Amino acid sequence: PFTIAVKDVCKRFPDGTLALEGVNAEVRAAEFVSLVGPSGCGKSTLLRILAGLEPISSGQVTVGGFAPGTPQARAEMAFVFQEPTLLPWRTVLHNVALPLELRGVGSQERLARAQEVLGLVGLSARAGAFPRALSGGMKMRVSIARALITQPKILLMDEPFGALDELTRQRLGDELLSIKQATGATVVFVTHNMFEAVYLSQRILVMTPHPGRVAEVLEVPVAYP
Ligand code: ADP
Ligand code: ADP
Repeated sequence: PFTIAVKDVCKRFPDGTLALEGVNAEVRAAEFVSLVGPSGCGKSTLLRILAGLEPISSGQVTVGGFAPGTPQARAEMAFVFQEPTLLPWRTVLHNVALPLELRGVGSQERLARAQEVLGLVGLSARAGAFPRALSGGMKMRVSIARALITQPKILLMDEPFGALDELTRQRLGDELLSIKQATGATVVFVTHNMFEAVYLSQRILVMTPHPGRVAEVLEVPVAYP
């Protein structure tokens, strides 16, 4: 029933840092959940564990019923980083198409899909542009489009709007909510901004540091239909 289940997870880095201790969390299908807490409380570490980018020291994690990092789990999710990691020598369209290229999808189909997801983020007109010609907000939209092209069931986002100005954050937040609505994706969103979390999420996992734990789970009352 749960898309993501985290049970009694501890994470100790090789240098001895205990980043997470006794973390329990569940994320339901199609839910928008934020991880909130001060710098160093383990938000990124937990997200990277879900993505299969970081092993756990003890405990249990399943994503869509699979262990993170397995091909089945990877097929279900996409990761969006704070810094848009676009290839500067590729156009917007070819950046967005990249994940399908890596999966061996033919050129015609992947470019058509790339056009489609660029439409979702309002950037159809910039398909032929190179990343250097885009604003920070536009680069983030391209990153989101690139994440969406594989139709992931789970979108993991690590402070995606952290580097953007307040107005752009607001706009992108609204766009993300419509994208979530349109695609039915589950979103796990890391932020240290409680206002952003309350605005975007259905539930908020409040984390505390030393060592990182989920101290509280807040249900956000539905304010708007
Ligand atoms: P947050 O995302 O909430 O800022 P992080 O997950 O980045 O927190 O970090 C949690 C804790 O783990 C911090 O104390 C951080 O210094 C430590 N940490 C993160 N990555 C590593 C690493 N690769 N090696 C050692 N310690 C790490
Ligand atoms: P965040 O934006 O999550 O706070 P940080 O700036 O804390 O990110 O960390 C950026 C990168 O550095 C991450 O990949 C993290 O794993 C790594 N890192 C953080 N703290 C340490 C540490 N004490 N030792 C080694 N790597 C670390």
